[in-house]
Amino acid sequence: MSKFATQAIHAGYDPEDHDHAAVPPVYASAAFDLGDAARGDALAAGDIDGFEYSRVANPTVDALERRLAALEGGIGAVAVGSGMAAVTYALMCVGEGGGRIIAPYDLYGASVDALGDFLPQFGIHADFVNDINDLDEVASKIGPDTRAIFAETVSNPSTEVLDIEPLADLAHEHGIAVIVDNTVPTPYLLRPIEHGADVVVHSTTKGITGHGNAIGGAVISGGSFDWANGRFPQFTARQQVISDDRAGEWHSFAEKFGKAAFIKRIRIKYLRTFGAVQSPFNAYLSLVGLETLPQRVSQQVASATRIAEHLTRTPHVVKVNYSGLGNTPQFELVRKYFPNGVGQILSFLVDGSADNVRRIIDGAKLFSYVPNIGDARSLIVDPAHITHREVPMEARIAAGVTDNLIRLSIGLEDADDLIADLDQAIAGAY
Ligand SMILES: *Cc1c(COP(=O)(O)O)cnc(C)c1O
Repeated sequence: MSKFATQAIHAGYDPEDHDHAAVPPVYASAAFDLGDAARGDALAAGDIDGFEYSRVANPTVDALERRLAALEGGIGAVAVGSGMAAVTYALMCVGEGGGRIIAPYDLYGASVDALGDFLPQFGIHADFVNDINDLDEVASKIGPDTRAIFAETVSNPSTEVLDIEPLADLAHEHGIAVIVDNTVPTPYLLRPIEHGADVVVHSTTKGITGHGNAIGGAVISGGSFDWANGRFPQFTARQQVISDDRAGEWHSFAEKFGKAAFIKRIRIKYLRTFGAVQSPFNAYLSLVGLETLPQRVSQQVASATRIAEHLTRTPHVVKVNYSGLGNTPQFELVRKYFPNGVGQILSFLVDGSADNVRRIIDGAKLFSYVPNIGDARSLIVDPAHITHREVPMEARIAAGVTDNLIRLSIGLEDADDLIADLDQAIAGAY
């Protein structure tokens, strides 16, 4: 199989299937001609591959799905309208019908809100842990209704890294699935399925698209989890959407699709019913963005490392959070899982008051004040007021988001210019 940088450009797309267009075309078509009655019947029955209606599948989006599945080492992917659609579809698909999900507080703000406050309204409950790498604490939360463990591979803004392998071993001993949000490192820096994760979710809005120009998400599934192990009634119950009432044939997802039951269910139940599709144009932008993923991320890691080192020596900076620095408690984990770095996010604490934070934000000229990450532009934000504003205090403190924290997402500008901008913004704020 080709190497990563080759797959980033070629996987999932064959020009011969698309009138020899060198670049994946944007299929701006809501629906597709079924041809003749026999083909229509075979397509609707799922007996042949093809496209019918763009809420369920579209050729441009399909190319992105195939490329992401290849880059993550999964058996299939479904692209959706946003990262939050990917997170909620995956959590609901696994937890549906009274399931519980173990998760750390150290999650993207909207994911904390979904698990702690919103999904319980749908009968899906979270058991939060303070440290997801503490196996004793995680094991103490496992009960008869536990369906999954959900965590971010590199958390934002703390850049704490997840020790996936022992966590996956523990989960699998109990027949529980491991779902990870791999948005921050992207598959260039980490391929969680190779370390035991069962499902990977992404906000493709971030590093995957890489230019801050398209909202999108994706769910990718590995191929080894047994969804018929008795913990997941939704996968073994017979279901109308994949059955043929006229022929008297009834199927469950596990029986019909085996190890692909999860990713099929995301498409056939969640995407088809809740309808958060990714537009073909956004899929096109993500496909173009992916072509340069390795080059972009490696330069951003190099700049982020230089900037993190510089900040450790900068007056008024009292702490730098970047697990890619060689001297952190997580050094061994970083060496094991992240030989090419942990990514372009870092955060730091400054002394003084909230007023100093405001002056640093307003004083930065090259860094854009933007609540996003993974852009070609460098971005700065104060998480306590913007990205984690709605997160309850306990969860915010657990995630290290205090009032004097500043988060950076390092882009592709010259690192010397970025350092000079931070220096003048910090010095001018006191
Ligand atoms: C941004 C982000 C999300 C949500 O993605 P959207 O595309 O904004 O919906 C989820 N998880 C992480 C880690 C993120 O950074």
